[in-house]
Amino acid sequence: MKALIKAQAAVSMAIMSSITTAGVARGFNFVNHFLPGISRSRGFQQVPLQLRGGASPNNRSFSSLLSLERASAAVTMDKTHDDREANEIEEAARTCLPLHKSLAITGSIPPPRSFGGISYLDTSSLDEKHSHRVIFVLGGPGAGKGTQSERIVDIYKCVHLSVGELLRSGADKEGYEHADLVKECLVKGKIVPVEVSLGLLRIAMDEKANEALADGEGYGSRIFLVDGFPRNFDNVNGWMKHMPSYTAVLGALVYNCPMEVLEKRILSRAETSGRSDDNLESARKRFNTFRKETQPVVRALERVEQLQSDEFGGSQLKVVNIDATGTVEDVWKATESAMNSFVTNDVLTANALLLKKEGHENMNAFKNVHVDINNGVNAVVTCDREIDGVVKKERRALQHGPTGWRCVGVERHRSKE
Ligand code: ADP
Repeated sequence: MKALIKAQAAVSMAIMSSITTAGVARGFNFVNHFLPGISRSRGFQQVPLQLRGGASPNNRSFSSLLSLERASAAVTMDKTHDDREANEIEEAARTCLPLHKSLAITGSIPPPRSFGGISYLDTSSLDEKHSHRVIFVLGGPGAGKGTQSERIVDIYKCVHLSVGELLRSGADKEGYEHADLVKECLVKGKIVPVEVSLGLLRIAMDEKANEALADGEGYGSRIFLVDGFPRNFDNVNGWMKHMPSYTAVLGALVYNCPMEVLEKRILSRAETSGRSDDNLESARKRFNTFRKETQPVVRALERVEQLQSDEFGGSQLKVVNIDATGTVEDVWKATESAMNSFVTNDVLTANALLLKKEGHENMNAFKNVHVDINNGVNAVVTCDREIDGVVKKERRALQHGPTGWRCVGVERHRSKE
């Protein structure tokens, strides 16, 4: 913990670091003060209220009273504790807001636009700025981040970068300066200092982008799935300090799964993975770290989304919570729907550029827009379009090629009514 606190102190955002270090040191649990409907995992029912064995009836009621008193004190403490954490999440969320562009978690994405009733992000500026599109993939150990990411990469134009894998290969790399530190963190289930994981991530992202360029692809033609980051507020601070000038964070896929299910999955993965941390002890530590340190970050990101919506009428950051307890196929359905909504930004951006090129500046002429994404790389944008006072149904087909989304066909016919 001391090493982590030291690493956090190195991050220049001193105010933010001191807040979050305190949060991490106290080992916060998952609370939700902002989104009704998401259950809390802590509450006063955890306070022991049982009677002591062998007590006389009088003693028993006295003991019971004492316990009640203790319980109510604990409830008050709990509330203060929760309030304090809520304040910290709120503070963290506001620090991530795009008020000061250089510190914003979302990077250089402009506020959302609307096209025929659909809110989307105009991603056209990202290619010029050489900004990588990023989606964070979060969840406890064994939640299915790797499994779902692999499937996303098969279907969508995405690159999967697992921070855990980058670290594991870093730990074994001869001559790598942080190998021992990384090895120790992995075995003990601790979070690696942010400079170390971001350093490896930056190299990997640049390598992949350069590979794509060498293959004749556009700089921003792929979305990076950053698996296992940010794990705590220190990671968020590190990201905001080092990454916004060349990344645009579209949002996060969060895989939620209880520990009993995760344990079974980790044990079965251990049979073939050869991973030093695929054992129950490491898995439990990693799960606790996720619960205490990563879940408050998820809450803060959700809060950023809400604050952005309040400010812009739509958010730049989109946090998608996915129930990961079902079968791979069930989880995939939710993943696919989330990915389609991320990809819709690029589809509608390409569509708007095309309309502009064709000289159609009046976006009010488009109503009832609907976007269907098929197999990750085919899209159909349908809408009602008014031309010279006549409403026509328009259908544009787009495809995700090497340089991004391109229109491959247009159909238009007179609306029936
Ligand atoms: P993570 O990357 O989140 O640590 P993995 O994707 O490696 O998790 O999944 C952990 C193990 O659980 C793997 O052996 C994987 O095959 C299995 N698994 C993943 N998702 C599911 C699921 N929805 N149902 C059952 N097993 C799963």
